[in-house]
Formats: sequence, C-alpha cells, structure tokens
Amino acid sequence: MSLREFLKKMEKEKEILHIKDSVSTRFEIPFIMKSFDNQGPILIFENVRNYKTKVVANVCGTRKRICASLNVGEDGLYRKLAEAWRSPRKPKVVEDGAVKEIIEKDLSKIPILTHFERDAGPYITSAVVYAKSIDGNVENVSVHRLQVLDKKRLAIRLVPRHLFSLWQTAKETGKDLEVAISIGLHPAVMLAASSPVPFGVNEFDVANALLNNGLRLVECEHANAHAPADAELVIEGKISAREEVAEGPFVDITGTYDIQRRQPVVEVLNVMHRKDYVYQALLSSGAEHKLLMGLPHEVLIWEAVSKVVPKVYAVNLSVGGSGWLHAIISIEKQLDGDGKNALLAAFAAHPSLKHVVVVDSDINVFDPCDVEWAVATRFQASEDLIILNNVRGSTLDSSADQETGLTSKMGLDATKPFTKPKERFERAKIPVGGEIEKLVGKFLAH
Ligand code: MN
Repeated sequence: MSLREFLKKMEKEKEILHIKDSVSTRFEIPFIMKSFDNQGPILIFENVRNYKTKVVANVCGTRKRICASLNVGEDGLYRKLAEAWRSPRKPKVVEDGAVKEIIEKDLSKIPILTHFERDAGPYITSAVVYAKSIDGNVENVSVHRLQVLDKKRLAIRLVPRHLFSLWQTAKETGKDLEVAISIGLHPAVMLAASSPVPFGVNEFDVANALLNNGLRLVECEHANAHAPADAELVIEGKISAREEVAEGPFVDITGTYDIQRRQPVVEVLNVMHRKDYVYQALLSSGAEHKLLMGLPHEVLIWEAVSKVVPKVYAVNLSVGGSGWLHAIISIEKQLDGDGKNALLAAFAAHPSLKHVVVVDSDINVFDPCDVEWAVATRFQASEDLIILNNVRGSTLDSSADQETGLTSKMGLDATKPFTKPKERFERAKIPVGGEIEKLVGKFLAH
C-alpha cells in the first residue's frame, strides 16, 4: 500500500485538484495550500518552478479522507486506531523496492518548501523518521520537522520523546544515530507515526496492522535502518552526536512561530527515490497538521473518558484550538459530577490540553455555535468550572511558559445538571411532517 495507490483512489472520488501553473516552492505553494486549507482538496502542483518533481499537499487534510484511507467509517475510526496500537504486526522486509530506483547524493533536487515569512528557511514537514537503538532492541518511527541547512545537512527538531531518547543514548556512547527519513507515504503510515504508542513499539508495525499486513519495508543502502519499500523518497542520514545548531524559528501547529532552540544536525548519507517521485508537502498549522497530530490523541481521550462515564459519543480536538489545545467531548453521564471526572480524565490522557468542554450527546462537538450554546444555557462558572494552575501543558502555547511548559488549565462542565427540571434545557422544536422537511431540503440543495 502506497501513497500513489491512495492518490489513484482519491482521483476517482474527485478529491484532487491539479494546479498546472508554474509556482515557486518559496511562499507561493504554501500560500495556495493555505488558501485551500479548510476542508480543501488534495493539491497536486504539476509545474514547480526550477524543479522537475511534482508536489502533493493536503493528502490527510479531512477526516473523510483519513477514514477512506483506512476503509472505515467515522464511527469506527477510533476503534480501528486503538486496535492497531494494541496489536502491531511486523511488516515483511523485502529485497528491493520502488524507492530504490534512483540514488542521489544530496538534497539539491528536492522541491522543499519555504512556508512562512519569518521561518528560518526551507523545511521538510512530512518526514517520517525511523531509527533503531544502538543495542538494536528498540525501533521507533516518528514525525519530525527538518530544517535545510545546506544540501548535505538538516537540523532536526527532537521533542523529548522516543527518538530523542534513542539519540541521547547513542550520544552518550559517542555514536551518531543512523536514520531513514521517508517522505511520500500512505496516510496509514503517517497516522501510525503520529500515534502515542509506548516506547518500544515500532510504529511501522502499527501501520502494518492498520493496512491489514499491506506494508513492506526495505533495508536502507547506507544507514542501518528500514524504510517503506513503496515510499516516494527516502533520505538516509545520521543524527550527529556532536554537531548542534540553532533550529527555527518555525511556524508550528498554533500558527505562531515556535522559538529557536539548539537541536542536532542530520548529516545526509544519500537520497533515494522513485523515478517519477512526487514530493509530499504539509503546511504546518494547516488542517492536515492538526488532524495528524490531534486525531490519535482524540483516541486517547476517548479511551480515558470512556473509563469514567457510561458513554463517550464524540471527541473533537477543535480547529480553533489548533487541533491540540482544546477538546470538546460529548458524553452520557450517570450522576452530576461525572462531567468533572470526564474533564480530569481528558487532562490526564492528553497533557497538552489546555481548555476542555464536556457536553451532552445532543450537542454537535464539531459545531462551535452548538458548543457555545451549551456553555450559554447549561453552564454556571461558580459550580461547573475547574481551574488547574502550574500544571504541565504544551510548549507550543505562546501564553504558557514555553521553556518549562507550565500553564493553567480550565475545564467546563456544560452538561445539563440533574438537579434542575429537564424541560428547561430542551431545545425547542417545530412540529412538521416529513414533506415540509423534504421541501426545505430541496431548496437547500440549490
Ligand atoms: Mn515511539
């Protein structure tokens, strides 16, 4: 299963817009991506100025397309992801793969985008990085942004998680950490790589479970690493044990500039790609970024809150909350107080959460007006509000302490209280027959 097979399927479903005009990798393509961001189509830039390669963008830009890539309805999505996390399957390692068709020395022919005005330079944003621990016992796959320093060097942002630990351990023994940086992958691989599975779980195994055993890997040529055999492009490299540079500034998920930090350098060993490869771009802070990063955490919240209330109907890490900092959760509660337990469970499940609203099942968590209506008519700050001070949150929030990640959090229980008569909270209806509904439907269709 590859990106291009998925693109073929999306072409049939008219989910792709081809842009044939000549456009530049510097700001022009990102501007067009941003213009089509909200619920927009997949974009294929066929004529990239000064490059021979096409660029594809916004592949995972809607929930609908993510579901289509996993052959699952929206109601089955969380369950499917959670099952794959719990039952990873080793993919087959094959001798040869399409990604090895062409070998190059450096990055100079890749149409890497420069996205925002004050970004430090061109950045690779859809890179799935594989590494193995020095003792060979742990394999890890995760998504990282990579700043282009020159045609043989990249700076990699390592958030203190799994790849960071592997690099730290290698560094302590004075060794560089070899990596395979894969670009242009099936959405299932992107989702698996952004999944919060425990240290020690190989996210390629999760991807293979999501693809019903459809993932195949190859050994890299120079790095002691694996990459998907059907990837569009793979950069082999090693994360230096010695060399660090100032990485950033760079726009992250909130649409603001992330601060500059000392980060390690990746030395490029070689580049391999399919003969007619397409370069996959991703707009940081765009819908695709929010979905890939946020959606797997909705699953964590769904699982955690399900343990404290009878039923969780829906979870939305909302677009306005940058797909990361705000959650709206619709639940069925048994007793008053369950709403607050749901809030606490959500905060524990996703430590970056800052504001959470829990609502009843009649509220559409994806409609901000509906959620605001629930807050307006069902919520009393004196009783239904939780504030937590000096807790760890996200360093991506400009209003938090971005070095320590310390922040304040707020939870709103906007579920109907059982202590008041039900009728008071009822949404008023106008009683008409199906024919009038049909009539309205006909007009709305025009
Ligand atoms: Mn991991």
